[in-house]
Order: sequence, then C-alpha cells, then structure tokens
Amino acid sequence: MSVKEILSKLTDEEKAALVAGHNFMYTRALPKAGVGAVRMSDGPHGLRVQGEAGDNGVTASAPATAFPTAAATASGWREENLFKMGAAMAREAHKYGVHIILGPGVNIKRNPLCGRNFEYFSEDPCLAGKLAAAEVKGIQSGGVGACVKHFALNNEENYRFNADSVADMRAMREIYLKVFERVIKESKPAAVMCAYNKINGTYCAQNKRLLTDVLRKEWGFDGVVMTDWGAMHDRNEALRAGLDLEMPGDTAVCRKWISEGLKDGTLDRADLDKAAENVLNMWERWCKKLPDDCDFEENDRLAREIAEDCAVLLKNDGILPLDEGEEIFVTGDLFEKMRYQGAGSSMINPTRLTTPKKAFDDMGIKYTFERGYRENKIDTEEDVLEAAIAASGKYEKVLVFAGLTDYAESEGADRESMRLPANQLALINALVKAGKKVVVVLFGGSPIEMDFEESVSAVLNMYLPGQSGGKACANLIFGRANPSGRLAESMPMKYEDVPFGDEFGKGRIDVYKESIFVGYRYYTTAKKKVRHPFGYGLSYTSFDISNMKVADKGGELEVTCTVKNTGARAGAEVVQLYVSAPKEGIYKEERALKAFAKVDLESGAEREVKLTAEKDDLRYYDTEKGWTLQGGEYALQICRDCETVLLEQVITLEGEQPKRADNEVQQAYEGAKLDVTNEIFERMSGIKIPAPAPHTPITMESRFSDLKEGKLLGRIIFKAVLYVADSQRRKALKMPEGAERENTLKGALFLKRILESNSLITMSMSAGKSCPYNFAQGFMHFANGHTLKGIKCFIGKIKY
Ligand code: BGC
Repeated sequence: MSVKEILSKLTDEEKAALVAGHNFMYTRALPKAGVGAVRMSDGPHGLRVQGEAGDNGVTASAPATAFPTAAATASGWREENLFKMGAAMAREAHKYGVHIILGPGVNIKRNPLCGRNFEYFSEDPCLAGKLAAAEVKGIQSGGVGACVKHFALNNEENYRFNADSVADMRAMREIYLKVFERVIKESKPAAVMCAYNKINGTYCAQNKRLLTDVLRKEWGFDGVVMTDWGAMHDRNEALRAGLDLEMPGDTAVCRKWISEGLKDGTLDRADLDKAAENVLNMWERWCKKLPDDCDFEENDRLAREIAEDCAVLLKNDGILPLDEGEEIFVTGDLFEKMRYQGAGSSMINPTRLTTPKKAFDDMGIKYTFERGYRENKIDTEEDVLEAAIAASGKYEKVLVFAGLTDYAESEGADRESMRLPANQLALINALVKAGKKVVVVLFGGSPIEMDFEESVSAVLNMYLPGQSGGKACANLIFGRANPSGRLAESMPMKYEDVPFGDEFGKGRIDVYKESIFVGYRYYTTAKKKVRHPFGYGLSYTSFDISNMKVADKGGELEVTCTVKNTGARAGAEVVQLYVSAPKEGIYKEERALKAFAKVDLESGAEREVKLTAEKDDLRYYDTEKGWTLQGGEYALQICRDCETVLLEQVITLEGEQPKRADNEVQQAYEGAKLDVTNEIFERMSGIKIPAPAPHTPITMESRFSDLKEGKLLGRIIFKAVLYVADSQRRKALKMPEGAERENTLKGALFLKRILESNSLITMSMSAGKSCPYNFAQGFMHFANGHTLKGIKCFIGKIKY
C-alpha cells in the first residue's frame, strides 16, 4: 500500500498519534495500519542507543564508537573524514536497528563560551556546511537517515529552552541560516530538528517563516521536521507552521489540542495530514532492517585516524616531535583520564578507550608520571601540585596534559570563563617557573585563554578526539603522524575581545548586535589581534603555494595553485580560498572563506590543486531585494589562515550597487567598529528589542529556576526537583572509583543543569507520561500561591 493509501485510511486519532514520538526515541507504530516505529538515536559523533522502553539517562546507552566531536573533526578540514565517520555510524546503526541518527549539529559558534561548542563545527558557515553535508551523505550512504540540528540560532545553553534570539536578516541569511541551507541543498537529510529557542519572538517549533517558507519552499526540503526534545509549545500552531513530529512525544495534551482544534475548526485537517504524510514517508524510506555489518575494531581505527588528522599544533619551538627513546616527565590528570567526548545528550558509551597513558605504555615510552592536579577539582591542591614539581626535578622536558573538563564545559550550561581551571594553570606556571621545557597537550571543546603559551615550548590541541584519542595523541607527539589540523574557530587573546561577550548567556533576550561580524569576520575586519586566527595550524614540515590561476566558468570561479611540500616529512596542507568583496556603500567582512582543500604530500612532492567558488556564494543579503551580487572588484585570496594572504588575484564582476544604509548605522558597523547601542541595532535590523518577561508571576514559560522567586510552595518544588539530580550525584559518590562513577557523576551534573534551565512547559513536553501538562500547570499554580487550583490540576486527567 502506498503512503497516500495508508494515510487515507487513518483516523484523526491515529494521525495525531503518528505525529508524536513514543518511548523517548521512537515514532509510534500503528500495527493495524501496518506502520512500524522509526527508531532514533543521538548523535552526532557516535550512537547513544537508548533502551526500548524509554529514557534511561545519558550515561547508560549501548556500546558504540565514540568518534572525535565536531569541534575536532572541523579542524581536520577534510570532508572525507566526515563521510567515512557517517558511514561507520550508519553501520553501527544497523546493529541496533536504528533508522535515524540525531546529528550532525551545525549551529554556528557565535561565542567561545557556549557550552555546546564542542558539538558544533565552526564559526564559519562554509566550513561547517561542507563538513556537515559530508557527514549527512556518509550516514545516508549506509541507508540510515540523518537529522540536522538545531534549526536555528541556537547559540547558547544557559537559556536555550526559552531564549529569544534577536537577529537581523543579514546575520541570519549570511551566517546562521547559511550553514543549514548548504547542508539541506547539498545532502538532502532525512530530517531537521528545530531548536528550543525563539527567533525574533517566535519559537522555532511554530515559526512558519523558518519551517515552511525558508526550509521547504526556498530550499526544497522534503523530509520530516521534528522538535528538539520537549521544544513544543503550541501543537496546532506548530502544525500550521510546518512542524511534523513532536519529540519525545507521549504527551496527552498535544493529542487533546489536535482533537479540539479539528472539532472547532481552528486546525485545518490538511495541516495534520501533511505532517502525518511526512512521518509516513520517513518510515517508508528509512525504516528498513539492514544487515549487521558493523565492525567496532575497524571503527576504532577510523576514530584514531580522524583524531590524528584533526589535532592542531598551535606552537612548536622545535621540541616536537619528541624522541621515543628519551625518558620524559609527564603530568596532568587528563593523561590517565583523557577527556575525549562532550557531556550531555551526545555522550557515548565507548566500545574501548585508549588514553594517552595506555598508548604510551603500549608503545613502551619511558616516563615518570605525577598527577599535578585532579580533573574533577578546580582549586589548586598544593600537595598534589608540589608532588609533581618535585618529581619533575631531573627532567628537562615535561609533557603537561591539560584542558577543559566536563565540569567546565557541557551541554545545558555555558562556560563561566575562558580560562583553564585554576589548578591546571598553576601546574603549567609552576613548571615554567622551574625552568622546564614544557609541552602542553590540550583537550576540550572550545578556545581557552592561553597567556601561558608565550612561555612554553609547544602546544598541541587535541580538542575532543574520541575514544582512540590517546593513541592519536601519542602518534603526533612522537612523530609517527604529522599534525595537519587547522583551527575552525578564532582563538581570541582574552574573553573581553569577543564582541558583546559581556551580554552573552545572561538572560532570555539574546541580541545579536554584532550582526555578520561573527568570529574571524569580526577580528580580521576590526584588525583585532587574536591568539591564533581561524584557519591556523602548524606542521612538522613546510609547504609552498604558488602559481595561482583564476578561470571564470560562468556560475563558478575556478582557482588553481601548486602546493609543494618543502620539508623533510610527509604531511598535509590546507589550501584556503577567501574572497574579499567590494565594500562600497555597505558594510562587509574583510574576507570570507569560500572553498578549501586538504592536500597530502610526501616530502618534496608537489601537486596542482583546484578550488571552486560559486558566484552565488559571493552575494550579500539585501533586506529588500534578497540575495544580491554587488558589482565591483573581488579579490580572490589563497591564504594560510584567515589573516595571512599568500596569493591574490582581483576580478571584476557585474552587479548591482547597494543602497547605502542610514549613516549612523553604516558608521557603527563599518570596519566592524561595533559601536552598537540598542537603538542603532533596532534601526539597523528594523526589530524592536523586546523587554524580558518578568520572573513572576510564574507561567508555563517561566524558567524553572524562577520558581525560587515564587511563593513558598514554588521554592519547595524547585528544591524537590533538584533533589533528583542531587540524589544521583550522591549515589555516584558512593560508587567505587572508575569510569562508571565518573559517568554517573557527569550525568548528575548534566541533569542538574538541564533541570535548572528548563521551563515548566518544556519539562512537561519532554517528560512524556512522568510529568504531564496538568502536573506542570499544578506546579505553576502552587508557585503562584494558588494551592487549590494546583491540587485540581493534579487530580484532573487529560482526556482526548
Ligand atoms: C538535545 C538534542 C538531542 C535530544 C535527544 C536534546 O536535549 O538538544 O540535541 O538530540 O535532546 O537526546
């Protein structure tokens, strides 16, 4: 029977059941109609397969390969890595009968403190879009669907459930939506997950402009749009906007709303049918039993190979690579307890784990180790530190394993500062003071302030390298592999340099005042010194790029050049093509990345490399006319990183002349001066910045932490709910030392962060039967001191 025929036989109740999930990671089966359930799994860097009966927390999933996270894979600048990783995840999905993988996550890194940056690729939409499209193609090549997330402007964690991202049209089109546009058009993912937040006043889940006009009509998306887990607010408004599937579902109230809407005519049956048809199409297309062809051994090797390709060598005075035969001193808890993945919904239960310590031992490296700090602590413990300094005595060279721990960086909350934990900084500084030649190996998902860099010999950034990261790291340190990663994000000198950093993550209204000046687009245009620019990374060899040629091929510009490995080792160079567009009449970034290629070369070898920039990609977004090509001179620049132009050719393109913006607006943004007051932003964007909602009275949309400011019962409820996370923490503390204890602790911390930042409605929409809507309403009434109303909610039942 065709999908259309099945649909024609379904009752309204069945359709309403079909457009909501079941048991946390499934769609609902309709056995009478012969429709099976679609099984999903997080994503995005390996599977987090949950149990069949519902949510079992983030730490108890079936074993799967933990690949490097997006922050790492982006630094590889190699689409093939993502394709291979996607295909390998698809084979693991076959093993577990998973049909849709919830990933990749492609949101732009707007601010280095976003707690979820480790799960996203880049601050640049071209790099992020191309890599994410490759991952989707890889996953889908294995017959498994990919769900691209979180659509859109989900760039912070503190208020992610209810923040309003207030942004102008150019910033959205040129940066934040651009990345999704590329992925959708290039790789045709099975699904898109909408974000929790609002955009300019409207929740993404009920944003018709976003989900229908842009996504489907403009970009031609024909898959399923699902909510992020619990991101539903108004079911019928969402159906009208083009939101098909509500996840995780099992919410009686949404079925009730649908049924009432159909009865009173406020919901058009065609909107429900459309959503049900999309879900049926997803089931028909992706719900297949595929042979178990998963090879964990091979995937572990692939995870290592990718990690090696992605690590970024940030500094090297010649100390690296180290000689395998030389005895060294090693310190830093992360040597034994490598941080290899992020915390939150993307947490994987790895099939095996190779820490740097294990890799060193396997390779027979001679070393002395002292912890120096404990990874689950922030403050310096003098005895632990002193033991390391004392033990380092006779050694000249010291390897320090440092970085951001799960306590510093996680989904659900933004980082509090850009610094390394104090105990780690103290260790590095003490070793420098003791006159050691220090090599710092970093783990973590986002940039840190690195004042120490000037006084150490080398810094190797592994990011979050996945389960075999220790082996990759050892291979790089001892020169069995040659670093070839390049930063996919800028590393500012200090957090104060980040545009409007002081306003980030502070409240429910998030104004994108910097507009298009995100990441390097800001630093290069404003000529602000950074620690390391976007695109930067060192190698153990050297490269020469020459012979640039440009050919106009109609819709595309073809740029060729010759790359030569001029050093003594095999290695890989990343050729980066940027375009500096005319700036007359309208503010623009100094230059923007348009194409890139990674080239592997033996020592002495050379190769011609071809890069293609689409002319459509050179357009800016005119708020009246839409995408517009400005006429004038375009400098095509082959760069080593976004600040270092190696070769340049200027071409002239025919096009329009932009209408000059209001003088004050132009002055505030030109050259990324960013003298932007609220008033200037409003004039530039045409958007009135909304006033934040008051904390009380408590509404269904209130942040859960607002309950603290409500009446006595509200405060009691708040404490009682947090008690759930705390009891998990206390349980973990009683467990014996080891990975399970650590994971349980991290799970508890994540739960606490989620509970605090949730809103009442999101909590009920994501909790299925355990906290139905009427309970959340009851909490709301209690918190406002309306005890009777609250009790009524609890004893009532939602009928549909
Ligand atoms: C996250 C999503 C994830 C989902 C299911 C949400 O809280 O934002 O990225 O896919 O949970 O675990």
